[in-house]
Amino acid sequence: MSTFDSIHRLWASFTDLAMSRHCPSCGRRMALDEEPLCAQCMLRLPWENNYDWIYNPRMVAAADHPCLQRVGALMRYNHGNVAAKVVQSLKFNRTVTLASWMGRLAVSRLQSTSLFDGIEALVPTPLSSRRQRLRGFNQALILAQAMGEELRVPVCTDIVRKIKEVEPQTHLTTSQRLENLKGAYALTSHADSLRDKHIMLIDDVITTGSTFTSVISELEKVQGLRVSVFAWAWVT
Ligand SMILES: [Zn+2]
Repeated sequence: MSTFDSIHRLWASFTDLAMSRHCPSCGRRMALDEEPLCAQCMLRLPWENNYDWIYNPRMVAAADHPCLQRVGALMRYNHGNVAAKVVQSLKFNRTVTLASWMGRLAVSRLQSTSLFDGIEALVPTPLSSRRQRLRGFNQALILAQAMGEELRVPVCTDIVRKIKEVEPQTHLTTSQRLENLKGAYALTSHADSLRDKHIMLIDDVITTGSTFTSVISELEKVQGLRVSVFAWAWVT
């Protein structure tokens, strides 16, 4: 095969690869300079522009947890919007590239706000070991890892575990969710290493806030621990 043929074949496979890239939000084929979403979806990202982390409704709802410092999100999640599609794609396609973009985007957009001030470690919301085995990965963990690299803070995965499988929560009210999650999380023997620290619990989505409230009910047993919460998107 001539050098020209080799270059031609290489170029053809390169363009094939490029052409097979689809936008994880709308499914449209993306051009080479579009990454990780197509240009149209990038323009339709539903940014959360309210940076008043302390007085948002989720903070107020969780007011009986004095260790809770701030709760924030990057995007507004509504059924079928671009944020929802990105989160679904992360969960089901296991795209580490997408998670890494999501993490970098969150840090670059929110670093000038007070959300990450004083955070000493990131803690991904745990999945039960059965769920993690079935899914193959924890999307909160890969998001936390991407954010940890940008923020230069460690990611702690051995602090709290999900020890109980719970019923699907989609159709439950907030109080039913809290009841459903009772006893679902437990601290590990390493949790005490976080004494007097300020950590950030990381998740992909906050729906009602019952998951983070349940995890915090465990974390607040660690003396002097302060907890902030970040989700890439929250339901508005
Ligand atoms: Zn798109």
